[in-house]
Amino acid sequence: MADYRSIPSVDHLLQQAACERLATQYSTDLTTQAIREVLSQARTGLAAGSSVPDDEILLKAAEDRLIRWTAPTLLPVINATGVILHTNLGRAPLSPAAIRAVTETGQSYSTLEFNRETGKRGSRFQHAEDALTRLTGAEAALVVNNNAAAVLLALSAYARRRRVITAVSQLVEIGGGFRVPDVLKQSGAHLVSVGTTNRVRLSDYEDALQEPAAAVLFTHPSNYKMVGFTEQPGLNEISAVAHAHHTLVIADLGSGALLDTARFGLEHEPTVMEAISAGADLVCFSGDKLLGGPQSGLIVGNQEEVEKLKHHPLARAIRVDKLCLAALSATLQSYLTGRAEREIPVWRMIAARSETLRLRADVWQKALGQGEVVSGQSTVGGGSLPGEILPTWLLALGIPRPDQFLHHLLAQPIPVIARISEKRVVFDPRTILAEQEDLFLKELSSGLLP
Ligand SMILES: *Cc1c(COP(=O)(O)O)cnc(C)c1O
Repeated sequence: MADYRSIPSVDHLLQQAACERLATQYSTDLTTQAIREVLSQARTGLAAGSSVPDDEILLKAAEDRLIRWTAPTLLPVINATGVILHTNLGRAPLSPAAIRAVTETGQSYSTLEFNRETGKRGSRFQHAEDALTRLTGAEAALVVNNNAAAVLLALSAYARRRRVITAVSQLVEIGGGFRVPDVLKQSGAHLVSVGTTNRVRLSDYEDALQEPAAAVLFTHPSNYKMVGFTEQPGLNEISAVAHAHHTLVIADLGSGALLDTARFGLEHEPTVMEAISAGADLVCFSGDKLLGGPQSGLIVGNQEEVEKLKHHPLARAIRVDKLCLAALSATLQSYLTGRAEREIPVWRMIAARSETLRLRADVWQKALGQGEVVSGQSTVGGGSLPGEILPTWLLALGIPRPDQFLHHLLAQPIPVIARISEKRVVFDPRTILAEQEDLFLKELSSGLLP
């Protein structure tokens, strides 16, 4: 029969000097919770035939819990994968100016919904609208929580219980649960798909437009590419046909670049300006993909249409917060002043020259005293430019057990995310931020390497 009297009481442990220190650091409440858990475990152990650990061991177990419970789970990491817009790693890192804006806006009151000219209530919609319209050539703009929400809002406001025409080839799944047919369904729209899996003609749209429709939805296939016997009319042609039938054109660009990716040896990613000049009435795109800003969904388009979205009940449910607006406005500033390529991390990474990357990898090799600098490939990721690569230079380390080594890297205070290529652990300088480079080398050289 287990002797439960050998288990100390909660109060007994709380009165230990070591415990007072824990209570000061972690609060009495949380410390008491940890002790209760540890004692309950001791009770279970006792019933199973183990002896009760002494006070010191019990308190150590309580402290381990407190450390675990209060440690943040959302941590910065060092991205050595060479995938620039890594969705699992938070997509776009923010520019220093965006971070400054977040800090300044977050730590004080702000003009979020305040008009400083009139001294009266203002609108949160005002903050990014000017910059977005100036940059894209659209009449009006609206920012919501993310692009999925932007598309849902546009469809809900315009297409509920009405027909929406879209090409079969564009009924895509982007990842993370975004499937075009499901979003359409959620908005209450009636999906009318035209064309075949690989080919859609302008006449297919025209045929479907013989009956009244709320909108034509044009979706950029993002992370999916069709090659071979394919056909897809341009957005300008589709817009012309839709407008001839008094039908709205909604374009979901996904990434929605504001700069031309072709300048960096990549395929041309459709820009927002192009979609506007092609005649799209509403263009939706993400703020944290190629734009390089915070998570957000941007809608630009005709004044009247955007205005209607602003007043839709769903707009309130998916509105952005002040920190996002602060970061977004600062990011857009970089575009307005022609400094995006220099200031926005995503574009700096895309624009990084091969020679520069090789030099960085060479420096790492010298600092670590091992490895080999080899040529490799970075990718843009984030559901843009599938199959497109940027030539890079990698530091490749021949490590006996590379899988285990990757786990050690993840256990570092700032985890390093690397990958294995041809049995070697490789690190791509393209996605390691300059400010993280010293730490990266320090972590690697701190007894990790064989
Ligand atoms: C990424 C993407 C979305 C979803 O955007 P989020 O900002 O992640 O919500 C929607 N449509 C397309 C075409 C995309 O590429």
